[in-house]
Amino acid sequence: MVQFSGKSVYKGIALGTVMVFKDREEPVRRKKIEDAAAEISRIEEAGIEAKVQLKALYDKALSTVGEVSAAVFEAYQIMVEDEDYRKSIYNMVQTEMVNGEYAIAVAGDNFSRMFSAMESDYMKARAADVRNVSNRLIRILEGREESGRLLEEPAVIVAQDMTPGEIVKLDREKILAFVTVEGSSSSHTAILARMMNIPAVVGVPVDLEEIHDGMKAVVDGFQGTVIFNPDEETCIQAEQKIAREQERQSLLKYLKGKETITLDGKKIRLYANIGSASDVGYVLENDAEGVGLFRSEFLYLGREDFPTEEEQFQIYRQVAQTMGGKKVIIRTLDMGADKQADYFNLEKEENPALGLRGIRICLKRQDIFKTQLRAILRATSYGNISIMYPMIISVEEVEEIFKIVREVQGELDRAEIPYKYPEQGIMIETPAAAMVSDELAKLVDFFSIGTNDLTQYTLAADRQNHKLDDFYNPYHKAVLRMVRMTAENAHKHGKWVGICGELAADTALTEEFLQMGIDEFSVVPSMVLRLRKKIRESTWNR
Ligand code: PEP
Ligand code: MG
Repeated sequence: MVQFSGKSVYKGIALGTVMVFKDREEPVRRKKIEDAAAEISRIEEAGIEAKVQLKALYDKALSTVGEVSAAVFEAYQIMVEDEDYRKSIYNMVQTEMVNGEYAIAVAGDNFSRMFSAMESDYMKARAADVRNVSNRLIRILEGREESGRLLEEPAVIVAQDMTPGEIVKLDREKILAFVTVEGSSSSHTAILARMMNIPAVVGVPVDLEEIHDGMKAVVDGFQGTVIFNPDEETCIQAEQKIAREQERQSLLKYLKGKETITLDGKKIRLYANIGSASDVGYVLENDAEGVGLFRSEFLYLGREDFPTEEEQFQIYRQVAQTMGGKKVIIRTLDMGADKQADYFNLEKEENPALGLRGIRICLKRQDIFKTQLRAILRATSYGNISIMYPMIISVEEVEEIFKIVREVQGELDRAEIPYKYPEQGIMIETPAAAMVSDELAKLVDFFSIGTNDLTQYTLAADRQNHKLDDFYNPYHKAVLRMVRMTAENAHKHGKWVGICGELAADTALTEEFLQMGIDEFSVVPSMVLRLRKKIRESTWNR
């Protein structure tokens, strides 16, 4: 028995027989050519053929895994035509007089290295996309078929890496799990695995020479582990887990696509919280009706410098597009307190939770704020985006924010950059905001109650300090009264109100929240269907 750990892409569990997909492609040979123009037209023709193949794969994916997942093949078609990529290939053919296969392989390597070196996970994942497109073009030029194997029996697929093209060609019913040595959790391959609900672990440091067809393996997407040649006890445990998981899945199946509606007919918005673009797969898989909280500050963490407007735009656009018209509420940067990055150069504070955090940083450092607003506004053209501001305490702050938003809109207008007017809401997560929520409700389109901070600030109990667990009590009357007050004030002014703090997922409080008039709940994706079940069993009764 030998165990490996990797990055989990989809939380599921499988036990079965291994099928190894080895990369059987020969290295590309460098050959001298005589006629650069002829070589370029050969490459052009390969490009046309690649687009035909990708269109066919798109159609197949559309009917098996849906539009959102199929979009990867559209993205590949665009990449085939990418100006920079093509120029780089043609230039090499003309200046070095080398064959197309070689020029494509080198350009593919260069672009993929460039993407891999970028900070953003999104751009890193594009490295695999360029490699996929390059391999396809080379295969066509060499007149080879796409490699792939037919699965006769259900199997755990183990590979160096899998392209989305290889994955959609497989029979979904015969795939028990994916294990890859390479691959990032935000790659399209990972996205596809999630969409197909296939347990998958990527980045598993296994030597493929040691693995062979017919071996047994347990793939545990909950733990991110893979066990080859499991002993009997491990197999029994895995079977028990699989049975529990099947039970959960049948519950999910029953609730998927069902309305989120109370017994007495009130329709509730049931959204999910995310921290990155790669979480969207979980949102869709769990049938959330939108994203109620995108914690955008996660894009700023674990890096050396600010994410650029372009990087942010790409991510917000990807999320909006993937959600396909469902609402996506992007919360602007909520740095400070426990979320720190050196490059912000913030002074050390005695009480960071009571210090410069959230909207306070944005109002003091408007350059940072404006960059983010530009990126979000640009992305509004690609879906149904709303903006939400954190850590508000006053009407004046909201007025100042709106002035800055108008300035940014003016800049975009002058540059003729399109955008849509988004709904704008605020988080109610300070007692001050709850207390003046009657005035705030006149200004904004919606409220989302952040019970995590509202509890901390109302009860003067640091949410980070485990020694205060007995004091940090979100059930405290003071917190619940503020939730009620906020809901009443929102409704007085015809605005909707949601909860996006952890308390939203606490099914012991669901009925009480519904009776307070909460219109929206935003919870971790894995809680969505359980909460839908609870709402469908509750009455609103007003
Ligand atoms: C909250 O405070 O409840 C909230 C949702 O925001 P965060 O947990 O990101 O502070
Ligand atoms: Mg908060």
